[in-house]
Amino acid sequence: MLTISEALAAILDPIAPLDAAREPLAAAAGRVAAVDVPAAVDLPPFDRSAMDGYAVRAADTSQGVALRLAGGVAAGEVSAEELAPGTAAAISTGAALPPGADAILQSELATVGDGTVTPERALEPGAHVRYRGEDVHAGDVLARAGERLSLPRLSALASAGVGSVDVHRRPRLHLLVTGSELLPLGAPPEPGRIHESNGLMVTLLADRAGAVLAGSEVVPDDRAATLEAVERGLAADVLVVSGGVSVGPHDHVKPAFEACGVDEVLWRVRIKPGKPMWAGRRGSTLVFGLPGNPLSSIVCFCVFIEPALRRLQGERDARPRLVPGRLAAPAEASDGRTTFLTSAISRAADGVLEATPTERQGSHMTGALGESDGFAVAPHDSPALQAGDAVDLLLLS
Ligand code: AMP
Ligand code: MG
Repeated sequence: MLTISEALAAILDPIAPLDAAREPLAAAAGRVAAVDVPAAVDLPPFDRSAMDGYAVRAADTSQGVALRLAGGVAAGEVSAEELAPGTAAAISTGAALPPGADAILQSELATVGDGTVTPERALEPGAHVRYRGEDVHAGDVLARAGERLSLPRLSALASAGVGSVDVHRRPRLHLLVTGSELLPLGAPPEPGRIHESNGLMVTLLADRAGAVLAGSEVVPDDRAATLEAVERGLAADVLVVSGGVSVGPHDHVKPAFEACGVDEVLWRVRIKPGKPMWAGRRGSTLVFGLPGNPLSSIVCFCVFIEPALRRLQGERDARPRLVPGRLAAPAEASDGRTTFLTSAISRAADGVLEATPTERQGSHMTGALGESDGFAVAPHDSPALQAGDAVDLLLLS
């Protein structure tokens, strides 16, 4: 049976990012740059004042010696006239320095008289001047190909004159939820049937991972219906099928994959919950079979499908989003598999995220999810863990 890292490599390594298109910055937010994005202009784009005050020649300034006031520059204006020696020009924050000026006398340090302004003290050249290019030069790369366009990067790009960016397209995900026993959300109970939750979770997690839901259907455990639904779903970039990937007489998903020409990449991973995970491809379509138990399907989505969706969007580092934390109680991997333990997680007094595994553990223990914030990960190859031991956490809230 493959370990999680072997399975991830088998899924992620062959994935080529989806094609890219130019998008305005607002639409590109949270998506991945397809190429390096350079600044379009220098920042600041011209020498400008950092203060409201007076543009002066520093060499002309000395304590108590008046300068003649000659004109002014407001933000957005440009003064073509050279600042004559012995004069000062009123200037507002952000306005371009007039030619010849090399320092700003801030209003607070100036006494204004009749057509004059007198500095409290002499100024150094460069005082309160923001020089062209001191922050960024046109052509400097502000976002690299394969990096997600986070808010700080978008802000930097906007300031640097960039209005649109080439980003990878969002993957289109088709969801099939299989199971004749499944009742829709909130439906009245019926004998022998259970309320389904995987459809909701996959939809929410897929959205969070940047995918677009191309279609979603619930199929009974029927051979022909499953085959037809799988064939329809294969038109998407990613087909996710919940349930029915085992080998029981009512599990029609694997035979449907085979009949539709989907090549198996892997089946079964050393993970708990989630061992019977199936992954395959047909052409460029990625296909996943999630075990039907709700906790298995959540864990497998976060560990395998979310990284695949991020990789399709061009993210270079698409490993599962695990964060460091520690255990508040002993735990161990069970059954030789990396075990995801449903846990309450909160920040301890020293700032570390601390996980307390819930009493009930199991792939069907959906009630335990109600007490949890995510999972603590006990690796398959580590000895029993003690309270205080470092662990990876998978946060869901
Ligand atoms: P399966 O993988 O289809 O054999 O399903 C395994 C277990 O998960 C069974 O007990 C199913 O009833 C349950 N199950 C399957 N699909 C869902 C679903 N969408 N929501 C909740 N439970 C499910
Ligand atoms: Mg089933």
